[in-house]
Amino acid sequence: MESIKFVCPYCKKINRLPKKSSYTKAKCGGCGASLLEGKVIEANSSDFNYILENATVPVIVDFWASWCGPCRMMAPNFEQASRNLAPKVQFVKVNTEENPQIAAQFGIRSIPTLIIFKNGVEVHRVSGALSTEQIMQLVSQFQ
Ligand SMILES: [Zn+2]
Repeated sequence: MESIKFVCPYCKKINRLPKKSSYTKAKCGGCGASLLEGKVIEANSSDFNYILENATVPVIVDFWASWCGPCRMMAPNFEQASRNLAPKVQFVKVNTEENPQIAAQFGIRSIPTLIIFKNGVEVHRVSGALSTEQIMQLVSQFQ
């Protein structure tokens, strides 16, 4: 059976799950948390590359900052999209003030910027705040 790898947002264990079109139950093998809650991982320099290297589902990263109005406006949309799509898509956010080296690594010039990665490789990026539907539509192209 085909499988996917999804990083637990709580304990960061890599979970291998059967690939399905929808999930009714998925628990983390490490901490027991439900992987369907869609909690967004707040990544930093110690775990960002780890997530990119290990998740086999599309990873969508929100580069944001606390002073950015459009970022704060989009945050609930990003969380809602994550709840709708977990564990088929891995949702990650990076605070560019606290992690300037990650922002520099990807040449982030304006925020919010969303970057989608497949198997650790950037496949798409877009700047500006999006609605929940726009985020879901965007990332579903890469599943
Ligand atoms: Zn866990």
